[in-house]
Amino acid sequence: MRLRPDLDLLPSYAASTTPVGAARLASNEVDATPPPAVLAAVERAIADVNRYPDFGANHVRERLAHRLGVTTGQVAVGCGSVSLCQQLVQICCRPGDEVVFAWRSFEAYPIVTRIVGASPKPVPLDADWSHDLGALAAAVTPSTRLVFLCSPNNPTGGTIGATELSKFLASVPEHVLVVLDEAYREFVTDPTAPDGVDVARTTPNVVALRTFSKAYRLAGLRLGYCVAAEPIVTALNKVQIPYSVNTVAQAAAVASLDASGPLLRRCAEIVIERDRVRAELAKLGFATPRSQANFLWLPLGTRTAGFATHCLRNRVVVRSFDGEGVRVTVGASADNDAFLAAARTFT
Ligand code: PMP
Repeated sequence: MRLRPDLDLLPSYAASTTPVGAARLASNEVDATPPPAVLAAVERAIADVNRYPDFGANHVRERLAHRLGVTTGQVAVGCGSVSLCQQLVQICCRPGDEVVFAWRSFEAYPIVTRIVGASPKPVPLDADWSHDLGALAAAVTPSTRLVFLCSPNNPTGGTIGATELSKFLASVPEHVLVVLDEAYREFVTDPTAPDGVDVARTTPNVVALRTFSKAYRLAGLRLGYCVAAEPIVTALNKVQIPYSVNTVAQAAAVASLDASGPLLRRCAEIVIERDRVRAELAKLGFATPRSQANFLWLPLGTRTAGFATHCLRNRVVVRSFDGEGVRVTVGASADNDAFLAAARTFT
């Protein structure tokens, strides 16, 4: 048996344990369960799971298209937006082609790039932990097929401004696909941040990528979507694993769009909590970059692993990037308070 030797470059999945009753602040989920109407839709959909899902996820795509002001043919769905990240690389790249992204950013970008056999080209964030768009533009070569821009950036939280984005797009050749990953768009309050869907609607080489996993509380059901020009959507559908967006996820997504009022109100509350936690951290001497997402970045460098272990001992699970920093999700107030209490006693 000969497995692909380049798979050795990919990290293996390491399951983590969450102590019972611990505050789960490691995965940027929203703390609350879906609203009752969504849970009721899930129960109804479960009764049909002897049948295959709607192949084209037509209902959810129609509803998204209507809401976003695009055609159904401009909306693709995937088994989580991470699946769409991989499909986007698959439709653009062959072995040897390059994918450019800021680093540190969403950890799946280098992985999905390598799965396709393409080459990841990470470009360091700037001193403010933001995208260095000048350096990203300079990293584009004749081999570049795709650029991921993550706004707000996971794990550092900052957004890319509309003016900076336009300038960047003007400097990148039109045959390079630019994917604006807006997994955390619903938590953005900065008026200078662009709306990726507006940009994708009018710019043929831009894709806006979003998800039902965060604001819409459906992380466990796996449904992400993107808005792109119709030929891109057609190509994405060609490489999708058939039926990978399941019946229950489709029904839950439609019901969640009906319940978007209360869901988005909770996002506004999380934004207030985010700013409270950031201010409290500053009082404790932890400087964190301004975040437009539902998490904060603590650039702790060599103290990172010690801080994460200390949090775990205090029954708070955070996401640690060894030697770089800790990302903490903003959750329910009590969980945020547990995290702040742990931070207070860290020496
Ligand atoms: N993009 C970013 C920036 C993310 O942080 C995540 C989840 N951590 C995803 C995409 C993927 O989310 P999902 O597959 O659940 O839609």
